Amino acid sequence: MAYVQIDKQAFIKNINTIIEKVGRKEAVAIVLKDNAYGHGLQSMAQLSCEQGIAHAVVRNVMEAKQIASQFSTIMILAPERYEAVENFYYVVNAIETLEAVPAACNIELKVDTGMHRNGIALSELPKALAIIQARQLRLAGVLSHHRSADELGSAYFWQEHHFQAVKKEVTAFCQTEGMPIPRFHNKNSAALFRANTLDDDLVRIGIAAYGLLRLPSVFTPYRFWPVMSLVATCNSCRTLETGEALGYGGTFIAPQRMQVGNYDIGYADGMMRTLSNRYETPSGALLLGRVSMDNSSFNTTDDALIVFNDANHIADAAQTLAYEVLVSMNPNLKRCIV
Ligand SMILES: *Cc1c(COP(=O)(O)O)cnc(C)c1O
Repeated sequence: MAYVQIDKQAFIKNINTIIEKVGRKEAVAIVLKDNAYGHGLQSMAQLSCEQGIAHAVVRNVMEAKQIASQFSTIMILAPERYEAVENFYYVVNAIETLEAVPAACNIELKVDTGMHRNGIALSELPKALAIIQARQLRLAGVLSHHRSADELGSAYFWQEHHFQAVKKEVTAFCQTEGMPIPRFHNKNSAALFRANTLDDDLVRIGIAAYGLLRLPSVFTPYRFWPVMSLVATCNSCRTLETGEALGYGGTFIAPQRMQVGNYDIGYADGMMRTLSNRYETPSGALLLGRVSMDNSSFNTTDDALIVFNDANHIADAAQTLAYEVLVSMNPNLKRCIV
């Protein structure tokens, strides 16, 4: 049976690099949304805790509940409901939500500093603070998100600049009103590893922990170790005679007599169909013909085939990002920690 292999030592090395860059592990939040980027929520939460990581970020309450006892704070990016749990921190993405969120819940206010996807506008900040004060909401954090931290250009700088202004305004308001100062955070993996200085209270790290951060070469290079590999098992082997066609549509035609193997991994597992006839595995096996729903063929007959051990490589072939490759892995595939 095909399985997803999780390299524990790789994850630990990446976490250590992150902690070293941040300077203190208390300021690191591990992003575990979407089944920990496909790696498996429970096991990645456990490994993070073992490394002393105290903060997590998830997508929804359903995910938060599965790891509730393991972190001192769990930030929920897109809450589907609200439950007043001491270590659950609900992200508020719009000003209307401030009127609706139960006052017993911890909230983190997202401010739009230029991505224009989620968060209140900069101009809405005074109004938001007024609502928070009037409703006596528990403002635990203020955050924003970079749109282009992994690209060269000015966006990173003006977004940071806007965030500094937000920080000042919120801090001044809280001091005047006698409210506790919330935690401030604005950095994902790319923003952390391009930054020269860090004055955020927390960083929210996903892709670097999973070993797949890519930054333009002008930035200080850091080494990361891909955590996920995908291993497939041979279903059957056969000999193709010259001119015989393989798979749906017969899109691969044997140029000579050859041995091929069929493996138990298809697009239902997250093996993208756009890879058909255009992917080479780390050991040099070529994907032949179209990817089917549950299987695909290669010019090898090995029992076990490492389909990928660096999601950036297969993402390039599929013209997408490692992020999409990782989260596309079917949750039903067994995760094996080695
Ligand atoms: C997914 C996400 C992150 C993590 O981004 P990486 O590029 O994987 O480090 C951080 N913050 C928010 C708000 C996110 O949605």
